[in-house]
Amino acid sequence: MPEKTKKTKIIKRIHVDADKCNGCRACEMICSAFHASPKYSTNNPARARIRVITDPLRDIYLPVYAGEYTPAECMGRNTYTLEGKFYDECAFCRAACPSRADFKEPDSGLPLKCDMCESVPEVDEPLCVKWCLVDALTYEEVEVEVDEDEEEPRPEEVELGLESLVDRFGMDKVLETVARLAKKD
Ligand code: SF4
Ligand code: SF4
Repeated sequence: MPEKTKKTKIIKRIHVDADKCNGCRACEMICSAFHASPKYSTNNPARARIRVITDPLRDIYLPVYAGEYTPAECMGRNTYTLEGKFYDECAFCRAACPSRADFKEPDSGLPLKCDMCESVPEVDEPLCVKWCLVDALTYEEVEVEVDEDEEEPRPEEVELGLESLVDRFGMDKVLETVARLAKKD
């Protein structure tokens, strides 16, 4: 089999230092405001692409930013005790999934995903990182090697994704949300 051609790409990521987080939730506020339409017209943490799990009695403040939507619920789940702090099942999970309300638009129920604040004009660093005054969030760019064709979106994957959204939320909600997104600047 011929060897695949490689190329490099930049991965954007946010390093979370939960020990520094104080639960102020500024990251949720600015994320929801930045993604409002028009930008900064409202803020509603329920629309944020980052969630801070807070439990002051147990001294738990855990920022988690939203990853991919998954149509399947996990059959087995883990709980964690780290440095004496107990974390519930799903605490570290970044997925929007059918078994919880996190990372979903409150009105349509459609999944939310962190887009690293991609916008035109570009921002120099994600807004949640900028607004975190205690440096619990740090923006990083890492260069990795990938197969040349890895980034090409395949039409069947797009179709599968759309089908799962329609199954889950119904055609009307999907169309309504696409129309709303299309109006965004
Ligand atoms: S802004 Fe920083 S300190 Fe405040 S909740 Fe978010 S991650 Fe934690
Ligand atoms: S990087 Fe941007 S989109 Fe992602 S959680 Fe932070 S503010 Fe929200």
